[in-house]
Amino acid sequence: MPFYAPPSYPKLPFDPPDSVTVGDFMLDENYGRHPLGYSKPMFTCGLTGKEYSALEVRERVDYLARGLGKELGWSPNKGTEWDKSIGVFSLNTVDTVPLAWATHRLGGLQTPANAAYSAAELAYQLKNSGAKCLFTCLPLLATAKDASKEAGIPDNRIYLLEVPEALSGGLKRPSGMKTVDDLIREGTKLDRLEPLDLGPGGGATKTAFLCYSSGTSGLPKGVMISHRNVIANTMQISTHEANDRKTKQQPGTQSDYTESGLGLLPMSHIYSLVVICHASVYRGDQVVVLPKFEFAQTLEVIQKYKIATLYLVPPIIILMTKNKPILDKYDLSSVSAIFTGAAPLGEETAMDLQKLYPNWNIRQGYGLTETSTVVCASLPGDIWFGSSGSILPSVECKIVTAEGNEVTGYDQPGELLVKSPSVVLGYLNNDKANKETFQDGYMRTGDEAVIRKSPAGNDHVFIVDRIKELIKVKGHQVAPAELEAHLLTHPAVNDCAVIQIPDEKSGEVPKAFVVKSPSVGLEENDRVLARSIQKHVEEHKARYKWITGGIEFIDVIPKSPSGKILRRFLRDKEKESRRKQ
Ligand code: AMP
Repeated sequence: MPFYAPPSYPKLPFDPPDSVTVGDFMLDENYGRHPLGYSKPMFTCGLTGKEYSALEVRERVDYLARGLGKELGWSPNKGTEWDKSIGVFSLNTVDTVPLAWATHRLGGLQTPANAAYSAAELAYQLKNSGAKCLFTCLPLLATAKDASKEAGIPDNRIYLLEVPEALSGGLKRPSGMKTVDDLIREGTKLDRLEPLDLGPGGGATKTAFLCYSSGTSGLPKGVMISHRNVIANTMQISTHEANDRKTKQQPGTQSDYTESGLGLLPMSHIYSLVVICHASVYRGDQVVVLPKFEFAQTLEVIQKYKIATLYLVPPIIILMTKNKPILDKYDLSSVSAIFTGAAPLGEETAMDLQKLYPNWNIRQGYGLTETSTVVCASLPGDIWFGSSGSILPSVECKIVTAEGNEVTGYDQPGELLVKSPSVVLGYLNNDKANKETFQDGYMRTGDEAVIRKSPAGNDHVFIVDRIKELIKVKGHQVAPAELEAHLLTHPAVNDCAVIQIPDEKSGEVPKAFVVKSPSVGLEENDRVLARSIQKHVEEHKARYKWITGGIEFIDVIPKSPSGKILRRFLRDKEKESRRKQ
């Protein structure tokens, strides 16, 4: 028997619609969002104060769609979303999400890339996704240009999202390169676009966002996230939290409670994209956008904008618990909740933070790119440290043992399988991964979990281990297969395997086991060789993928008879040698 949301919690008020784009759902009051006119500013830049109200965003999206359509020769009902695919490689800006909604208005899709990517990594995504143009920002322009060249995107199809000048390092916009504002300005002079016809159920079959995830194994893959997937998760999160919001409602006020949330996490990742930029915005919250993490600056912005919810990842929480004297310099009295996800938050870390701030609700959510993010999340009044919270409405969770038997009782571990309207359409052009991951309406998460009953009587999900081949560094995905393929291009590497090891600052970091090539002479120094291999990664991969967990030389990589790396064996070996240290 699957596990569900507590019966006493609210149900979705209506079926997530399959006839609208994400953008229309977010900007039309008929779909239950917070009244547009009563909202706080929708997106505010925490550094410059530049901001747009919900009504302004709606207008800008409309004009941007017109300008973009003319610029690229796209119209809403001509071609598929794949013909109108926009790559985004940028630090967070107030225009990033409105750009997605404008793309949707044209019947297109957005493929957001991690701003830490190297040119080669970005080129891989641009080519794999078939992006037709790229939006970037000045500080990332050089990398964006190199990647675009490799992916066959011409220079005149590169556009700029604006970030605060201080981040641009004195770089000036190349003449002729258009910004979002230029396109909006051009759009104001153009006729209204024809209405978009998604076709019957088109919102449930057309891709709105193509995010990248390596899933349970292999290289990063394009995850096809439909309009309805994002809409569903937006509704699921909002409904899950509806009772808590009601308790915050000021008596006699005209409209529902709204608050300011921290928009620091990268909008290229599903957590920020859906939880912050959609679910929170749908409820009328203000997103205070920060393009980069700088500790003191973030605290200053929290103080200045009286931010109530801090959307964070565990490494930032660890930093907070270790730097109380710095926190004490700022008035953080507006903060009522921390929401963390993307990687496990240790029970002790949560307790440490709670000791420092007894009034804060320290909430944890769990989700994946493949479930358009949240599957479960803890709620004020039912917070249990170590747990990822109670199950969202319209989600079914199943726990299945390695032998394939369904677990129906509490406290019994197995792989977590999820059924939800937010489970994505699948991986782009990858039948094998689709067959392995999406089975009988369920998504196999590759995470090991147990269900426990909380003191409040609700079923809680505890993620106890990760079965799949994935390393999470500061919440970012690192695919062992990607690093292994790269390591094999080093002349000294004959064979290799990459696993995660725990790290206090980053949560986890990659460590590589390497079998030396026969060409490596006996006189060669292991330290020098290891450094050369690490450098080979540093020169080609984003910083968070660097092999900071070290390189260990071994005689042979343990493999199954079918040639699969026995990672569990290596992880156990690693644990054992750490225990002995
Ligand atoms: P991503 O697709 O990048 O969001 O990565 C999803 C993966 O991150 C999950 O399958 C988990 O392995 C991990 N993850 C996300 N949230 C949590 C959490 N609260 N606790 C433990 N692991 C998590």
